[in-house]
Amino acid sequence: MTKFEALGLDKPLLDAISDLGFETPSEVQEKSIPVLLQDDTDLVALAQTGTGKTAAFGFPMIQKIHAESRTTQGLILSPTRELCLQITNELKLYSKYVKGLNTVAIYGGASITEQARQIKRGAQIVVATPGRMKDMIGRGMVDISKIDYCVLDEADEMLNMGFYEDIKDILSNTPKEKFTWLFSATMPKEVALIAKKFMHNPVEITVGTKNAGATTVQHEYYVVGGRDRYSALKRLADANPDIFSVVFCRTKRDTQKVAEKLIEDGYNAGALHGDLSQNQRDMVMNAFRKKQVQMLVATDVAARGIDVDDITHVINYQLPDEIETYTHRSGRTGRAGKSGISMVIVTRSELRKIKAIEKKIQQNFISKKIPSGMEICEIQLYHLASKIKQTEVNPEIDNYLPAINDVLDGIDRDELIKKIISVEFSQFYNYYNKTKDLNSEEEGSKKGMDHEQMPSDGSVRYFINVGERDGYDWMSLKDFLRETLGLEKEDVFNVDTKDSFSFFNTDAQLTGLILETFTDFKVDGRFINVEVSKKPVSGGKGGRKRERNRGHRKGGDNKSFKKGKKGGFGKKGGKKRSGFF
Ligand code: ADP
Ligand code: MG
Repeated sequence: MTKFEALGLDKPLLDAISDLGFETPSEVQEKSIPVLLQDDTDLVALAQTGTGKTAAFGFPMIQKIHAESRTTQGLILSPTRELCLQITNELKLYSKYVKGLNTVAIYGGASITEQARQIKRGAQIVVATPGRMKDMIGRGMVDISKIDYCVLDEADEMLNMGFYEDIKDILSNTPKEKFTWLFSATMPKEVALIAKKFMHNPVEITVGTKNAGATTVQHEYYVVGGRDRYSALKRLADANPDIFSVVFCRTKRDTQKVAEKLIEDGYNAGALHGDLSQNQRDMVMNAFRKKQVQMLVATDVAARGIDVDDITHVINYQLPDEIETYTHRSGRTGRAGKSGISMVIVTRSELRKIKAIEKKIQQNFISKKIPSGMEICEIQLYHLASKIKQTEVNPEIDNYLPAINDVLDGIDRDELIKKIISVEFSQFYNYYNKTKDLNSEEEGSKKGMDHEQMPSDGSVRYFINVGERDGYDWMSLKDFLRETLGLEKEDVFNVDTKDSFSFFNTDAQLTGLILETFTDFKVDGRFINVEVSKKPVSGGKGGRKRERNRGHRKGGDNKSFKKGKKGGFGKKGGKKRSGFF
């Protein structure tokens, strides 16, 4: 007996599940399916995006519906056209061995008469966006007066998008004796209100923690000057060569502008916003799903439907006005158990918003630095080297090898490597050589506004004479300091490792303890020396080393990235430093 069988599912579904290759039920499925199959009950289920909610309501609904009757028995409301189509497609896959079962999607932006025709042919399950649903009820094109089950999927997003009144209207056209299953990633009070108003003693299921963003997401912020936003975005992309990301802007205009600039600069980027035709939006979404587009620049509304796993980074080019929106943005990454990073580009004056978000998501942000031009060059260099290492050799080359050898005769191995790498690398180097530091911190330390990083909070910055050459990165150095000093996790911060030395901060009242501990302090016969730093505060908690590693880990997955890089690089001239390698 498979785990799905144990949940009480019948053969037609089990066969479809085996075709889909699902091996074990997800947590929300394990908790919801038996309840929905056995009991006739209302249900509220809270689970993050990507946890398999569609099957959690889809399997029981398919099993409970009478396929031999053509009456519409199940209604699923979902916030966007994209989600609507996705749910419909999934349900069709799940029910492929259930004879006579018809699932029809109705949504805006497509022919209403065609949709009405499909309903008329008999649809036991209707998946709809609230706007179009209301429209079709008004025109008598759909009858939901006999449904047994109603699903409110992504309820929080539907309410966010202002569908409360529509939902209320729609529900007033459904029978009293039906069961309502509400699925949501978060539980804001509006959702709680809906549950209270339209449901009777619902069974409650929570997967993970209520209201929190997915814990697999790391939140980072980068402080830059307002005019440097775009350059910062480019650097973040270049420092993560295998990035597969959604970049959020606040307006349609900015979305279009940023996407155009990225494309012009040779990135695989695309725009997604409401001023595009449905056809244009479909095209960009298809390219994104195939990873031909690696930076999808989107507005919040347009991005609602994005349901793509594997997104490595969410980049907040601008912060949203509503904190709740940030949760939705960052929820696009870290799906299906994978880890993800949500980056925020902020100006100094927006820093208090970070605090507010931290409170809401109950997770701390890491303050990070926009990598310098040379750091990016280094990352690109290693990335290139590992790409070369992983490239499969084309057997055709064998035929040409003697001739190629003739051409390359007399060049030794090192020289050859340098030349091969330079083919792609020089454009980066030429672009980034001599570019400025984008991090906005000088001003901040003066004004004392830097978040968790300025000494105005009474912290002291220290110099220590060990660094990366001694095998430390910011995390291991922080651990070493904590253990040696017997301190708590939060006591040591802003650890910034350099090659042969490092910096860190503590509260001023710990200075005595620290200087005392590190007087005549030796590790393996070597003096470890700590002094109060005279340098202005700099550096973030997140060592650059970590970021570099992250780039490596994914090395070579997306070979096409930056193939099309043109313009953008190489404009700024600058001679090659022969000693760079
Ligand atoms: P949610 O609605 O919670 O965001 P979805 O229902 O869209 O999540 O599921 C996300 C992805 O996971 C889909 O591609 C789906 O086919 C897949 N999936 C769902 N359940 C399972 C399972 N038990 N095993 C493997 N993959 C699953
Ligand atoms: Mg879903």
